[in-house]
Amino acid sequence: MTGEKKVLGFEIKPTSWIVYSSFHPEANIWSGLVSMQPQNQSLWPSPMSAGLNYAHTVFEGMKAFRHQSGEIFLFRPRNHAERFGRSLKGLAMPYFPESKFLMAVQSVVVGNAEFVPNYREGSLYIRPIAWPGDKLGYGHYQKLPHTAAFYCSPVGNYYTEGLKPISVYVAREMTRAMPGGVGSYKCAGNYVISSMAKLLAEQNGCQDALFLDGKTQSHIEELGGANIFAIKNNVLYTPILRDTILPGITRRSIMTLAKAELRMKVCERDISVEQLAAADEVFASGTAAVITPIGSVKNGKTIYTINNGEVGQITIKLYDLLTGIQYGDVPDKFGWLMKAIF
Ligand code: PLP
Repeated sequence: MTGEKKVLGFEIKPTSWIVYSSFHPEANIWSGLVSMQPQNQSLWPSPMSAGLNYAHTVFEGMKAFRHQSGEIFLFRPRNHAERFGRSLKGLAMPYFPESKFLMAVQSVVVGNAEFVPNYREGSLYIRPIAWPGDKLGYGHYQKLPHTAAFYCSPVGNYYTEGLKPISVYVAREMTRAMPGGVGSYKCAGNYVISSMAKLLAEQNGCQDALFLDGKTQSHIEELGGANIFAIKNNVLYTPILRDTILPGITRRSIMTLAKAELRMKVCERDISVEQLAAADEVFASGTAAVITPIGSVKNGKTIYTINNGEVGQITIKLYDLLTGIQYGDVPDKFGWLMKAIF
């Protein structure tokens, strides 16, 4: 990227192109990909869109990284395509073919290559999103036209302080997802409560909220936009996936790295707030959050400090491994990278 050096945050910055496709229900087909400038009004969802009115919208969040060689690589794009498909199916929306997803992601990177930050200065965040057309009443939208768009923005850290521990607030007043709901899909509606819980957390002097299971409030589930891990006696623990938790691709990557590279035991199970508070290290994981250490947990009036509020050694190792693979400094043994531009 050209211009003066600034620390990138996670706010959206303008880029040149959005790639989109429209679904034609009568032919049961997604159109060829079209590149458009973001200000093109035909991309905007109409005020009558079921996506806007009923939050019946599915999206993904993934990243492209510039290596030292200058080449640009996508991180686990097939897994994001797969999860996009799973979320669409979960919301009874038309299947989006993996090959088209990969082509769209590559096209949006090619069109906006100048915005991909330099090696280790950030990444290009790519947001595939799909929504149905207009419908006044709620219902199912299978027979409606749909739009899928792929936009992007250069980003830096999601949590502005980088690899500095954050504080989380246990949001007992709120429930992110209930069994039988849509919590495991990446759909717009889920983020209404994430946003309100973040506000609640900030009102309680913390940076983000941690949700408990809605039914029993006895175990932790995830943050508003990230999964959670705890380390105790060299074992890596994370909540077991249910239909109330988003199956994070970073989560999966961390579990693989801990097992294969750090020879750690990995255990998916229910974790209580007290067990979390007694952990040696705690961190959040996500495409945006990468690996973000958690230094304190506020539960009601009690504040638990984790690892003296410092970043743990295993957290650092996992962060270095993950970002090392993403930036091309650690061999990509697991085949997670795909060249964005050929
Ligand atoms: N949980 C929620 C609710 C999220 O929004 C995200 C971010 O996408 C994650 C977890 C982490 O998922 P991933 O690692 O695939 O980005």
